Amino acid sequence: MTPTQFTYQVLDIRRGTTVDGPGLRTSVYLAGCRHHCPECHNPDSWDENGGATMTLDEILEVIKDEDFDVTLTGGDPLMHPESTAVLAAAIKALGKNIWLYTGYTYEQILADPRLRAAIADIDTIVEGPFVAALRDPDLLFRGSSNQRIIHLKDNSCAKS
Ligand code: SF4
Repeated sequence: MTPTQFTYQVLDIRRGTTVDGPGLRTSVYLAGCRHHCPECHNPDSWDENGGATMTLDEILEVIKDEDFDVTLTGGDPLMHPESTAVLAAAIKALGKNIWLYTGYTYEQILADPRLRAAIADIDTIVEGPFVAALRDPDLLFRGSSNQRIIHLKDNSCAKS
């Protein structure tokens, strides 16, 4: 499959959010998650066939429309690492800073070549499963204290 043939199941695209990373961001919610964390805030996002089907170009049109950086979230964008890698590369080509939320830990990502390739253009990951016993509403940009914000590039905090 060539990159332009990928389609994406998109639950929502929110413009100007402040809760998914620093500054005003466009958040793309990709359907599908296998982690099934107990007390997940959004179990409706687990179905990989949920949401609306969008092409790469259709998503990019929404992102280009705004002067915002971008967050890929879900669901878990790494459930489909190849298509997420293509999306991230295209967003990066627009000069955007990219955050990505995933239920995988950084160590799990590094151990899997497919996952590792998918974060090549990501500036910052918020990683790890949600653990209800470690829930902390005072945490910025994450739900439980086991989850880590890991800056992967020098400019990861560009607008923070
Ligand atoms: S990784 Fe996120 S979306 Fe997936 S089950 Fe856990 S909390 Fe829910």
